[in-house]
Amino acid sequence: MSGPPTRLGVIGDPVEHSLSPRMHAAGFAALGLEAAYVSLRVPAVEGAAVEGAMRELAATGGGNVTLPHKGRAALALEEMSDTVRETGACNCFWETDAGQLAGENTDVIGIAEVLERMLDGRAPGEVLILGAGGAAAAAAVAADRLGASAVRIANRTPVRAARLAARLGRNGREARPEPWPAAGTCDVVINATSLGLAANDPLPASFDRVTARVALDLVYAKARVESDACDDPAVGTAWTRAATARGISAADGLEVLVRQGAACYPRWFGVEAPVETLRRALVGTR
Ligand code: NAP
Repeated sequence: MSGPPTRLGVIGDPVEHSLSPRMHAAGFAALGLEAAYVSLRVPAVEGAAVEGAMRELAATGGGNVTLPHKGRAALALEEMSDTVRETGACNCFWETDAGQLAGENTDVIGIAEVLERMLDGRAPGEVLILGAGGAAAAAAVAADRLGASAVRIANRTPVRAARLAARLGRNGREARPEPWPAAGTCDVVINATSLGLAANDPLPASFDRVTARVALDLVYAKARVESDACDDPAVGTAWTRAATARGISAADGLEVLVRQGAACYPRWFGVEAPVETLRRALVGTR
């Protein structure tokens, strides 16, 4: 990119509901950057258009990619990080000084930072991941990076859990597929399914069947971004509330969203993100 950043954005479908524009508008203002952050809908069926949209935004500052295009974005890169290679997914991209399209998977960074905090810096023991899509891949790599003693993957469609475990295995990380619905004892359980996005969704796992010390829901609690009740422990997703009721330390996905967004700033601008500004922009009506 030549010159200061002017236009960044998020590419996805649907993309209208994305909180990234709200978060990054606040972050850019705090840094005194006069750059816009836009939502670009590239229809799911037009995946071939993703690379063009990425190059356009990369030339003016960089951007993010969300569902369903993270895999397609990874394939478009000329320079990819290890986490993109391992997960097969890219959610953050920019242009290098040499004009190459570069990308990172900052979901891995966000999940690892939040887990580390929840675990008070100790290594996770066994980590059970619910789901086998892009978020599950990011969670598996994050858990392994933190030194998990085992990574287990349970998914509604078993073949996808086996495929994800095989992919991680090819990259030197171990994971083992497990039956669905998930059951058993673990240290950390992570919801990386999309269950919880709709109000009447069933829980991704029952705490009658799964015993854990820590539960991280990658779905964020809508109530936290729609009211000022962000610090009320009763506010969470249905699943984190069920965990808390069992005495399990639980968090929803809002802080992961903040951290994955913050991890983009050094890549886009070469500076640290104003993390507290990003967090405050999302939580409540403040
Ligand atoms: P994805 O690739 O579409 O994967 C969706 C997963 O959910 C699959 O494993 C799918 O299982 C499972 N699933 C969907 N409906 C289900 C149902 N009715 N019963 C059981 N399992 C079901 O999506 P993704 O990119 O991995 O994202 C997953 C979630 O993580 C989304 O809610 C996303 O918003 C969230 N996320 C949050 C952050 C954050 O910053 N907080 C970052 C990334 C992702 P099948 O394989 O059987 O279809």
